[in-house]
Amino acid sequence: MFLTSKKLTDIPWLIHGITTRLNGFSHGHYSGLNLSFDVGDNKETVKKNHEKIKHALGIRNFISLKQTHGINILEIRDDCFNDREYNDYDAIITDQAGTGLLIKTADCQSVMIVDPVSKVIANIHNGWKGSVADITGKTVLRMKQSWDANPQHMKAFIGPSIGPCCAEYNDHDIFPPWFKEFQASPDYFDFQAITVRQLKLQGISIENIEKVGLCTKCNPGLFYSYRGENKITGRFGAIIGIKLS
Ligand SMILES: [Zn+2]
Repeated sequence: MFLTSKKLTDIPWLIHGITTRLNGFSHGHYSGLNLSFDVGDNKETVKKNHEKIKHALGIRNFISLKQTHGINILEIRDDCFNDREYNDYDAIITDQAGTGLLIKTADCQSVMIVDPVSKVIANIHNGWKGSVADITGKTVLRMKQSWDANPQHMKAFIGPSIGPCCAEYNDHDIFPPWFKEFQASPDYFDFQAITVRQLKLQGISIENIEKVGLCTKCNPGLFYSYRGENKITGRFGAIIGIKLS
């Protein structure tokens, strides 16, 4: 039911998983396990999809975001018992148990980061604007500065996203010059490789970085794809949490 990381599975107190669109209650454009309330799907159906995932993972509640392709990072420091969606954030950090940090995507990347020593976790929504703004690097920095986490201990897991096969951008001027290094062909970019670079630049070891490596647009039976489905589609989810002890 979930895509998981070998590196994160080794951490005994951690819960994590990336959903596909399979085995959900939604119909039509959203057919399957849509986790977004904001894309036009029936809200009661989305709620049923959420409950199914919470039950499967052993999560008490979800913290999710109205993702805006910005650089705001939410810090959750208090125990929370209810589902809650926060406005205008694209990354979440917490050390609280029981709560699932939910990032919803359909071509953008999710990036999970864990410091197994400090017991701090993060989940990031990273589209091309996030790549340009380096929200991934900024989240690692915040984990260091606000939570005393250490990049040398951190492990990262990059979810499925639009791959170098399909990430076409004609206007290259929107990207920093060093993105050229990750040009798969003249108009196509490897954003997953860009994220690996950004994680390494913050001090995370390459051995501790894992990516699913699947393209969302090339796998329409498995994932929602914003570009592949003409913008009207659902969102699959990346969830990370700390087990209640
Ligand atoms: Zn593709």
